[in-house]
Amino acid sequence: NTVMSSNLAPLAANKVKITLRPEAERNQPIKNEDLVFGKYFTNHMLTINWDDKQGWHTPEIKPYGNLSLDPSTCVFHYAFELFEGLKAYKSLKNSEDVIMFRPDKNMARMNKSADRICLPTFESEELIKLIQELIKLDKDLIPQGKGYSLYIRPTMIGTSEGLGVHTPDKAMIYVICSPVGPYYKTGFKAVSLEATDYATRAWPGGVGDKKLGANYAPCIKPQLEAAKRGYQQNLWLFGPNKYITEVGTMNVFFAFKNSETGKKELVTAPLDGTILEGVTRDSVLTLCRDNLDPAEWEVNERYLSIDEVKERADKGELIEAFGSGTAAVVSPIKNIGYLGQDINVPLQEGKQSGKLTEDVMNWIADIQYGVVQKENWTKI
Ligand code: PMP
Repeated sequence: NTVMSSNLAPLAANKVKITLRPEAERNQPIKNEDLVFGKYFTNHMLTINWDDKQGWHTPEIKPYGNLSLDPSTCVFHYAFELFEGLKAYKSLKNSEDVIMFRPDKNMARMNKSADRICLPTFESEELIKLIQELIKLDKDLIPQGKGYSLYIRPTMIGTSEGLGVHTPDKAMIYVICSPVGPYYKTGFKAVSLEATDYATRAWPGGVGDKKLGANYAPCIKPQLEAAKRGYQQNLWLFGPNKYITEVGTMNVFFAFKNSETGKKELVTAPLDGTILEGVTRDSVLTLCRDNLDPAEWEVNERYLSIDEVKERADKGELIEAFGSGTAAVVSPIKNIGYLGQDINVPLQEGKQSGKLTEDVMNWIADIQYGVVQKENWTKI
């Protein structure tokens, strides 16, 4: 933990002040089939203010509601904002248990994002405890069943007033929660991508490896451009070698089978500062290294150009491709538009994904829903 200064108050979960929403005003659970990603929120939210004299103030859990901020507040002008996305799942073994998946990873990434834009860092364990408290209060609104979960959105903003560009002297963490359903309601639906080199998501020395709101707004226009040509998402390329970095707002994996040796390789981009350090990416790498037979598979973090993908697809060596991220876990890819042609990714007969993609989905979901235990990956 990188807490800035020792004479400032640390974030302390045990000081939390809880104000309940009156019973009559509470939202009732939404039916599973009516859930829409990020549309509905639970009854309560967590807010914690910070200032550079005092440090972290008393955490408050209170009814979900509007924030009130002066129009000159720095978040609105200079994008002092960062966020996280993680989920809590009702255990399929014991529905009383609510399982958070690798929250320590999200907290570490949140602190790195905060440090990069001069917002205060905080004690990760304390924020996890506060989130646990928050989700416990609204437990009845967490949907149950495979694919259903509570999406948790921790956010931090600079709240200094005035138009100067400088280190914020005030900040706020807030956490809101949204009950969500499966990304793919009727099983996987493979997506089509456009290889994008006319717009760049991130670059060396930039902030693409931090989860800053400012990284997201500029990615919508290229997505609309791709959509005009019939593609759902951008496959982000970087530099003269057209290295593949990410897809939409997910990390990306490609699987090949060498036609001479028969050996298979799973590849994703290395953590060189130009890609987000996805928690799902890390989980996919770990589980593939644990579960795949090393005589059959190599699992590599290395540079991979779109030209290599094209060349190997032409030779019949491309066997699977998928995105990875908290929202969908994995998202199979069916084709990639590049230089006016489509690179096609094989799918299993009559299915919308490759075999490894399906296996990875099941390995991760089993841990998230408490069917399989993996030490230090879950928090109840
Ligand atoms: N890349 C980007 C740009 C993202 O926004 C996300 C979603 N947080 C990811 C990758 C996947 O990260 P994670 O697996 O932690 O959700």
